[in-house]
Amino acid sequence: MSPGKKLKVATASLAGCFGCHMSLLDIDERLFTLLERVELDRSPLTDLKVLSACDLGLIEGGLCNAENVEVLRLFRARCKVLVAVGACAINGGLPAQRNHLDVRECLTKVYGEGSVPNDPELPLPLDQVHPISDVVRVDYFLPGCPPSAEVLWQFLTDLLDGRTPKPGAGLIAYD
Ligand code: SF4
Repeated sequence: MSPGKKLKVATASLAGCFGCHMSLLDIDERLFTLLERVELDRSPLTDLKVLSACDLGLIEGGLCNAENVEVLRLFRARCKVLVAVGACAINGGLPAQRNHLDVRECLTKVYGEGSVPNDPELPLPLDQVHPISDVVRVDYFLPGCPPSAEVLWQFLTDLLDGRTPKPGAGLIAYD
């Protein structure tokens, strides 16, 4: 990254719970330091709806519907570096618990036979929840549910300081 240039970062929550975004906010007062070197683009944190060409895309959540796939492909096309943040993005996480169930049967049980919403505005559910790496190339994986603020801080500062990020080295506990 050239000196003085801010890193342009976009984030998205697909089939996730926003816990990974909360972890990003848990960086707390260091966010001020970060914002001196980072410019936020499309993100639930900015509420910007349009995605520009970005240096970094942080993806929370796996893929549970057609809109998730569309957003993910757009992020891959516009972000130089794409990161799977958290268990849901990496392996489907909790939403993938539905993978052993039949989607049609679930929807019918919830809404009743003949009453399942079918508006063209609604994204079509996928039959299974997928990790994002099933659909696009992913440059880095940050494990955890969610990855801690320390993991995110270390990753972002490594990238900003021109070091190859070693995601979560020494910070991830597998217990
Ligand atoms: S990894 Fe955990 S915290 Fe992050 S979106 Fe999934 S369930 Fe939420």
